[in-house]
Amino acid sequence: MRRHLSTAICLALAGFTMAPLGAASAAEVREATTQLPRGVVPSHYDVAVTPHADKLSFDGQVTITLTVNKPTSSIVLNAADLTFSKASLTAEKGKMAFAAPKIAVDEKAQTATFTFDHPIPVGTYRLAMTYAGKIGTQANGIFALDYDTKAGKKRALYTQFENSDARRFIPSWDEPNYKATFTLTANVPNGEMAVSNMPIASKKDLGNGMTEVHFGQSPKMSTYLLFFGLGDFERATLNAEGTEIGVITQKGMIDQAQFALDSSKLVLKEYNDYFGVPYPLPKLDNIAAPGKSQFFSAMENWGAIFTFEYSLLMNPHISTQRDKERVFNVAAHEMAHQWFGDLVTMNWWDDLWLNEGFASWMAARTTHKLHPEWHTDLDAVGVREGAMGQDSVVTTHPVVQHVETVEQASQAFDAITYSKGEAVIHMLEGYVGEDAWRTGVRNYIKAHAYGNTVSDDLWKSVQAAAGKPITQIAHDFTLQPGIPMIEVRAAACSNGKTTIALRQGEFTRDRPNKQPLRWHVPVIAKTVGGETVRTVVDGKATLTVPGCGPVLVNAGQTGYYRTLYAQNNFDALKGQFAKLAPIDQLGLLGDTWALGMAGNEPVSNVLALITATPADADPQVWSEVAGYLSALDNYYRGDQARQQRLRTFALGQLQPVFAKIGWEAKAGESAPTANLRQSLIAVMADLGDEQVINEARRRFAAQKTNPDAVPVALRKTITAIVAQKADPATWDQLHAKAKAETTPLIKDQLYSMLSIPENDALAQRALNLALTDEPGATNSAGMIRAVGYQHPEMAFDFAVAHREQVNKLVDSTSSSRYYPVLGASSTKPEMIQKIQDYAQKYIAPTSRRVAEQVVANIKYRMMIREDRLPEIDAWLDKHAG
Ligand SMILES: [Zn+2]
Repeated sequence: MRRHLSTAICLALAGFTMAPLGAASAAEVREATTQLPRGVVPSHYDVAVTPHADKLSFDGQVTITLTVNKPTSSIVLNAADLTFSKASLTAEKGKMAFAAPKIAVDEKAQTATFTFDHPIPVGTYRLAMTYAGKIGTQANGIFALDYDTKAGKKRALYTQFENSDARRFIPSWDEPNYKATFTLTANVPNGEMAVSNMPIASKKDLGNGMTEVHFGQSPKMSTYLLFFGLGDFERATLNAEGTEIGVITQKGMIDQAQFALDSSKLVLKEYNDYFGVPYPLPKLDNIAAPGKSQFFSAMENWGAIFTFEYSLLMNPHISTQRDKERVFNVAAHEMAHQWFGDLVTMNWWDDLWLNEGFASWMAARTTHKLHPEWHTDLDAVGVREGAMGQDSVVTTHPVVQHVETVEQASQAFDAITYSKGEAVIHMLEGYVGEDAWRTGVRNYIKAHAYGNTVSDDLWKSVQAAAGKPITQIAHDFTLQPGIPMIEVRAAACSNGKTTIALRQGEFTRDRPNKQPLRWHVPVIAKTVGGETVRTVVDGKATLTVPGCGPVLVNAGQTGYYRTLYAQNNFDALKGQFAKLAPIDQLGLLGDTWALGMAGNEPVSNVLALITATPADADPQVWSEVAGYLSALDNYYRGDQARQQRLRTFALGQLQPVFAKIGWEAKAGESAPTANLRQSLIAVMADLGDEQVINEARRRFAAQKTNPDAVPVALRKTITAIVAQKADPATWDQLHAKAKAETTPLIKDQLYSMLSIPENDALAQRALNLALTDEPGATNSAGMIRAVGYQHPEMAFDFAVAHREQVNKLVDSTSSSRYYPVLGASSTKPEMIQKIQDYAQKYIAPTSRRVAEQVVANIKYRMMIREDRLPEIDAWLDKHAG
């Protein structure tokens, strides 16, 4: 699944995490946790469904082939929101008869128990059930999405089962290591397209305007990977390496999926080679759906990837270079899961990171390999920062963590699982080398195909391929939480070599006196321009690197740790900042920002680095600098005089860079330059640059007579500035535009922009609008959240006051995080109290991680305003006039 994750800069606003549950040892995770008795095991589901889209309900029949391993008189499986009308059990061999069982449904445990009048002996049986269920309006189980088209409103159906919602569609053993095969039959209206994991095997006209569609049998897989979709769709295909690759969209949009289709072909070829096992299904579709979820953007159903339109389509009117990069990366992520996740699946949710960390790493690697011109390799620092933002506060948890409940499983989809997982894999691949890593992965896939694994299965395989120990390092970084901090001291140069002393501690933002944990940390160091030297630091180390001059530790930035330099080493590095590779400039900026804010070094060091950034630095370095200045500006919120002084300094840094780039794209300019233009315009407007704001307004107004006034690449950026700075008349104008728009992708964008005005009264109007039917069922939750970035108190109070209505707008997997996050950008102690009161009242004690994380972040933001900003002020007094 592709989860929404915050970037390095805004993670303080949107961080998600959970309370520490303690590191699970390898031995503990070996036996899968289960919520069902283990004596009965399914091997095949034969399912038939008839959806009633108009009534938001469906009828189902399933026959499950199962093996009873231990005599029992009851069978327990998962079911949620299903009602049963009939059930029967027959022995596969022989004629043993069973009277109809008693059926008991436990709503809270999400189980159904079938009790028989005498024990069922060991053997193979068929359990047949007739049942009915509900079609939802948010992405859990089977759900409906309504959307506008030029021909009027339409409704399409899709399913979303990860982590535990297949039980809303089929009574099933809905846990990842109960793998089974599936055959699905659906009775659907003539003329609508039905899609599932496998190709259609046969069709029968039922004569009543309905068609019976029978899909081929799936390979052995986990329940959460099953998919069904139905609607007025269009499909385009091509063939690659014996696989039919398809994209499916609402009718009329198929051209916008061409880029995703072509990209999928390239990625499939790359993965067939990388994994050494060819893609095992006959076809691979990617289904685009309008709307959005608060939880995810895409899902790796085997052979039938589901992706919201904004992450799959390239719309000629609004899509940008960044959108293109996201479409590619999301497809590469979901396709990596077809092997890592679908073919080989984690045993239980404890090892969810095996799916998500790996798919994120594989997508990043493949995006860079197939599109080196995008320079996305530099994003690795942002990924690391995103993970460290969450990993440096008390509420963090290890990458491998123990999960007991459904709610805990859904909370495990966080920045630690995705981004720390990705960063740790990046570090370990760097440690053993690309070839050994790939061999290890290939052997692992081959050995565990159609099975389930734990993290140690991967470590063993890579260790064997590499011929060098990695398990200790891997355990240090995945079984315990937190971030190593490598202190660099006492550099001395003699005979053309520099010797440095390294000491390991722990980086934490909120527990400066904490007894540090210990890690085996792979460290790569060099003098600026010199050869790299590698070592593993456990405690203390001395390291000699060739050359004299300032030493750079974590050269190449593959290490998951922070580097704290003695001030004289830092000053010397700053002096050579322009000579560092862009990735190291980004790494040094990230460490300096975080260590300064946490109080490990002067916070003004980051300002000194910003002033040392040359005007011709890599566009991604300037994007990051703009991000840090914007984050700093945010901390001054509500203190206009001091904020103004920072803004004058910040604009003084950014304006010369923007002057070179300008509003209009130049022929042949690089992708990162196009991205930087967007970032600079947005941040400079945020910082109150009157020229930029006026130009954005002028262009927005001029597009009525001159469509070229707003280039496609800047359409979202310019509209967002106009919306953010809107007066009531402008807001009304945007509202009218949103109402009239019939393309879901553009319409959704306009409704989220209606929710970002700085003006209080307009923000209130956006909240009220969110509770009406007008924006559409999947826009409203995002609108309230968007209001929360600028107006956290207003958004939080509003959502809590209208809780019953708001709950219907949020997918059930997200609700325990949704409310606390609305208040996350606050710096007020009252908000802490409100979130704690809310958690106490409405969130189960085992599901309060996100609430705790938000509270930790608000406290941290308060500390920064109190303790760090005065130091920034003093630096500005001295250096910025
Ligand atoms: Zn994923």
